[in-house]
Amino acid sequence: MLSFRKGDVVHSDEPYSAVVSDSLLGSVCSCCFSEFPRNRANYNRCFGCGTVTYCSTACQLEDADDHEIECRIMSTSSEQPDEYTRLILRTAARYSRERDIGQHTIGEYFGHRRIFDDLMSHIDDIGDDDLLRHFDYAKIIRKMLRSSETHISVELVMIIILKLCINAHSIIDSDSGTGKSLGAAVYLAASIIDHTCECIDDYIQLFDGKRIYLKALRDFSVDDPLQIRTHYIALDYPYGRRQRLLLSKYYFKCKCNRCLIDAKLPGTRLLEDLESFLSMPADDSWWDAAREVFPYFSQIPVTNSYHHILLKRLRNISSGLSCFGEASAFGYMALIGAASVHEKQRILYHLSYDMARSGSNHPRSENYAIFRRIQKMTIELLEDIFHKNHPLVLSIRKLTSLKRIKSS
Ligand SMILES: [Zn+2]
Ligand SMILES: [Zn+2]
Ligand SMILES: [Zn+2]
Repeated sequence: MLSFRKGDVVHSDEPYSAVVSDSLLGSVCSCCFSEFPRNRANYNRCFGCGTVTYCSTACQLEDADDHEIECRIMSTSSEQPDEYTRLILRTAARYSRERDIGQHTIGEYFGHRRIFDDLMSHIDDIGDDDLLRHFDYAKIIRKMLRSSETHISVELVMIIILKLCINAHSIIDSDSGTGKSLGAAVYLAASIIDHTCECIDDYIQLFDGKRIYLKALRDFSVDDPLQIRTHYIALDYPYGRRQRLLLSKYYFKCKCNRCLIDAKLPGTRLLEDLESFLSMPADDSWWDAAREVFPYFSQIPVTNSYHHILLKRLRNISSGLSCFGEASAFGYMALIGAASVHEKQRILYHLSYDMARSGSNHPRSENYAIFRRIQKMTIELLEDIFHKNHPLVLSIRKLTSLKRIKSS
């Protein structure tokens, strides 16, 4: 049995290859993925391509081997290769470099070991049209690599592309709490961890630069490290959409407890039809449509994905209209159906603000006790995820004195 204490790093993994997003190449270090302060002038820009930047000379030196081929291609081709292409280039470069010296990076997850060749590609599940599309792309990449004198067969490029389709991972800016993507990467050890749609309260997946890690949010233990799960997709999607996404991107049908329960819910078919309604832009006609579907939702628990999405939309719309009392009520109900710790954090954060803006932060308000409880829950969760002096924690603390905003 494996036991962890609150705050422990359960597992961490450095990427096999990683790239900064196209729009952030000038403001995020391509080696350690730290963001430069806005007013900072003395960062290093690569002389070769003139595009990739580094926070320090040490980072530039460390990234030299991984950037070399990408750099040559970026400085000679008329069109700048995009994030996905650069991830293929960096991965192919690393793979061929390691192959030539006969030394492969090993990712290790509690004794389970994986090299790049072990990553799944699901070649048998991919449709013919998609395969042809990937193959055309592989030929383009091969041509790029040839021009930079890297010898790698088109078949191998194809395998790398197929493995990246399934195993490429967004690098999220965890520290800001905004969920912003900094780039993409492929991890060997972390790819061993399976998916679940169920809410995980024991630990959370975070990033430190490009390093991915799981942090324990409370004391917990597991019999087998393979019982530890993460979320491959956003979990505030309804059942049908989750299944379609997982099947089209990862080629499996999810049978987690939440999916088993959702699949059996009466009226699931009807709810699936409501999906298009839920994705409609929120204008006047949305409210008309909403009035028609409300009766259906009153019979469905708030933990149901569809009901949950509806509540979150209602919260956003109310808040946008400065109706913070209504926004608080919807946010409060949405909290019960939060599908992940990340989502719970975002809902709590908005709920604290909505309540303060509606005047519940005033000691004489009838909702003052609830406000204090929500504020405390938000602060505790933010402190567990980040730390005591994180800007998000400080902003929630200050809500006690925030002035009420009048409804428009
Ligand atoms: Zn750096
Ligand atoms: Zn360069
Ligand atoms: Zn599931």
